[in-house]
Amino acid sequence: SVRKDSPLYALLEVADGYYRQQLRHHAQRERAVDYLKGRGLSGQIAKRFGIGFAPPGWDNLMTHLVREKHEVKQLIDAGLVIENEDNGRRYDRLRDRITFPIRDSRGRVVGFGGRVLGDDKPKYLNSPETPVFHKGRELYGLFEARQANRQLDQILVVEGYMDVIALAQQGITHAVATLGTATTEEHLKRLFRVVSLVVFCFDGDNAGRKAAWRALENALPVMTDGRQVRFMFLPDGEDPDSLVRSEGADAFRARLEQQALPLSDYLLRHLGEEVNSDSLEGKAHLASLALPLIEQIPGKLLKRLLRQELERRTGMDLDSLPPPPAPRADDE
Ligand code: ATP
Ligand code: MN
Ligand code: MN
Ligand code: MN
Repeated sequence: SVRKDSPLYALLEVADGYYRQQLRHHAQRERAVDYLKGRGLSGQIAKRFGIGFAPPGWDNLMTHLVREKHEVKQLIDAGLVIENEDNGRRYDRLRDRITFPIRDSRGRVVGFGGRVLGDDKPKYLNSPETPVFHKGRELYGLFEARQANRQLDQILVVEGYMDVIALAQQGITHAVATLGTATTEEHLKRLFRVVSLVVFCFDGDNAGRKAAWRALENALPVMTDGRQVRFMFLPDGEDPDSLVRSEGADAFRARLEQQALPLSDYLLRHLGEEVNSDSLEGKAHLASLALPLIEQIPGKLLKRLLRQELERRTGMDLDSLPPPPAPRADDE
């Protein structure tokens, strides 16, 4: 296919080598190395994830790649160089940032994330959508997780690069991150090709809780019987990186085993919090919210059990209801 033969792969490979080289040899490498050490990362883990350094300056990478006979047009196509539409000026997308190569399932570099070394904004920059990088498809760390585990039986989905890497630093090597986007149905299909248990573990803040519910909504259509999705909610203000560093890997693992809520529990608990179902009206409201969600589950057994549980909670025989009307296009 076009994608397989794209010349952008070779280019991204060279860029990857360049950033890693800068982390080892640039005159300002100490700033970057100190930053990584300050976040508890060893040289070994930095190497495993290919962490690099985009040095300060407007055109370091561009100059390097052009010298290596690569065309600027392709640098732009690969998302490495930005062209200002008004004045035509071109400059490196990532400058004075820690770099994280994003690899596809075969290990090819398809893009980069970049983090500032301090508190500047924006904190992270990611490659744009390119012919070889699609955010709704790629999962950061999936290649590395498979390399580290011959027999993966579950995958942990977290929000950020540093969550994946900090967990790996503590020996928890089965985490992947969606890249600042919602977890899509395509992400989930990809994960379920590898494992039968996916555990979401987003940040303990409002954005993280919203992301969890979005993930549930996108998981419903792929919930065949035998697949499992769980949700682990973190204490307020914590993310997997901060938590695993403060409490250690064993406590984090215990949390995962003891506290991760099955999708069905989360669904009913969340709706139960939204609706006071003491009254008949409340029970009807609960059923009206839960049924359209439950109906999306393709797994007949899980669907059946969830309906039974809803019947128990509402005291209603759902099978005697007329089928719900087909959704209208303008309901979106
Ligand atoms: P850190 O621990 O390095 O301060 P974080 O990973 O905890 O950062 P969050 O604010 O929780 O950062 O964001 C989670 C993820 O969302 C990031 O890792 C990154 O992939 C993405 N992200 C965050 N801020 C931005 C941004 N301004 N632009 C693009 N993506 C972002
Ligand atoms: Mn957050
Ligand atoms: Mn975070
Ligand atoms: Mn963080």
